[in-house]
Amino acid sequence: MLEVKNLVVNYGSIKGVDDISFHVDEGEIVTLIGANGAGKTSTLRALSGLNKVGTMTSIKFMGEELTKMTPHQIVAKGLNHVPEGRRIFYSMTVKENLLMGAWTDKDAATIKKNMERAYTLFPRLKERESQIGGTLSGGEQQMLAVARALMTGGKMLLLDEPSMGLAPIVVRGIFDIIQELQKEGMTILLVEQNANMALSIANRAYVLETGKISLEGPAAEIKANDQVRKAYLGA
Ligand code: ATP
Repeated sequence: MLEVKNLVVNYGSIKGVDDISFHVDEGEIVTLIGANGAGKTSTLRALSGLNKVGTMTSIKFMGEELTKMTPHQIVAKGLNHVPEGRRIFYSMTVKENLLMGAWTDKDAATIKKNMERAYTLFPRLKERESQIGGTLSGGEQQMLAVARALMTGGKMLLLDEPSMGLAPIVVRGIFDIIQELQKEGMTILLVEQNANMALSIANRAYVLETGKISLEGPAAEIKANDQVRKAYLGA
């Protein structure tokens, strides 16, 4: 579904992502794990058209090359980004936030259907439909960020550190929902520092180290790898 070749992201003389290639098949959860500054966010931003990529980079989504598209065009193709830090609209209600996510659709019936789906997945958001976004708890804001991305009715989600700053029990809830989305047929690329959780729900994993992929394979294998256990799983 997503095929990335020779991804390079440079910030002046700093290499954010240093020539990586990876793929995500339809229906998979693939995780990119790595320490601070490894290049995880830079990778997701490049996929969404928010970072400039190298001249040799190819990013194919459902057979189409994304590297020349704008972020708006990329979302309209069905690739949705949930950025780090739950960037919701703080002064808007839950419902208004969801409606903002529906900008790719003009059809009221589709918007209604997508909203019902979001509320089925996140009943807590339904209860808080009229609450102002900025007053939601951290976990609820993360739910809202994911729900808003679902409003476009896209086919693949890019999740940037959904567990960041959340209590373990809330993280569990968010990861349950990610698995639920996979069951519904969503394809997911999950960037995480919480390697333990990410590897427990992913099908496959890539380990990023200073902009390069140092290891890749089935998530269970990566989780059992000695190096990974020492560096990322606190073993
Ligand atoms: P974290 O888990 O801390 O968010 P990350 O793996 O997502 O880290 P990136 O944010 O992609 O890492 O950063 C990769 C490298 O690129 C880092 O060295 C970072 O300092 C650098 N970098 C990221 N964004 C910029 C920018 N806008 N300008 C300059 N350097 C940047």
